[in-house]
Amino acid sequence: MRTVLAGDLGGTKCRFALVSEDYGVHCVQRVATVREQKPFLAAMDEAIEQVLAERATIAGLEAPLAMGFGTAGVIPPGGGAITYAPNLPLDGFPLTDHVQQRFGMPVSLLNDGRASAWGEFLRGHAAHQDPLLCLFFGTGVGIGLIVDGKPYGGGNNAAGEIGHTVFRPGGRRCPCGRVGHFESYCGGRAITERALEELGAPPDGHGTRGQWTVGDVVAAAEADGPLADGARLILAEAEEAACTMVANCCVLLNPRAVVLGGGMLSGWPQLRERIVQHVERTTSEAIRKDLQFVPSLGGSDAILWGAAASTGALWA
Ligand SMILES: [Zn+2]
Repeated sequence: MRTVLAGDLGGTKCRFALVSEDYGVHCVQRVATVREQKPFLAAMDEAIEQVLAERATIAGLEAPLAMGFGTAGVIPPGGGAITYAPNLPLDGFPLTDHVQQRFGMPVSLLNDGRASAWGEFLRGHAAHQDPLLCLFFGTGVGIGLIVDGKPYGGGNNAAGEIGHTVFRPGGRRCPCGRVGHFESYCGGRAITERALEELGAPPDGHGTRGQWTVGDVVAAAEADGPLADGARLILAEAEEAACTMVANCCVLLNPRAVVLGGGMLSGWPQLRERIVQHVERTTSEAIRKDLQFVPSLGGSDAILWGAAASTGALWA
């Protein structure tokens, strides 16, 4: 079977695997993401070597034809580098040249939101619903739009960053450095940092190493303790931002289906239903009539499928 080597370069961990033409995911290697460039590249190269070595022991899996990586950050059109990599030590680094020279095969890079959306489109619950809008609530807000079977990148491969449009003019500072953005209210990191600022450290038995999780903020809001009012206020504003953002996207793009995913929804599953209700309540019939909301595949195979698809080597 033909294969492609796919990578998911994330802010806390990276995964590398072979994706076969029947969408199988094989020989998975995981490495923690380190913040210095040299050790990061060494760990990445070693993980890729291990995938290739393991492949050679499995009958029926051909050597990969190409490599495709899904990664957070801004990748210019036809780009071989990530020009802005908020969570990886690769700002401006010519990543495709490095990998190409080392492993002697073509390499493509794709923004992680787009790669995940492409995977959801190929194999997810919304398979072949076109246009397909995917919104991932994680540390930040990831987005991917599939139009005519491919991720839509816009004129300069920068389209879709709805999380970095303004929700509250002059409001909270966003991780991107500007103020008042949707992500600074409904991104997972924004919610937990705000909880720390406004509620203090999480109570004993909650949080991780003194930091809140979104699930802990939800638990504090549902309890009748002294933190309940403050937690409810944070979540009410997060919910308003998330609902408004998704409804705005639906009106702008008129998708056939919307995938809502991301780790934050595991800690706060009620948000999903509230978003669906808000879109149904506030958009016109033409927008909502044939619109389906579908759950994400979860996990990270979707990003690997999308990264593999970006090479063009397996599926037309
Ligand atoms: Zn922002």
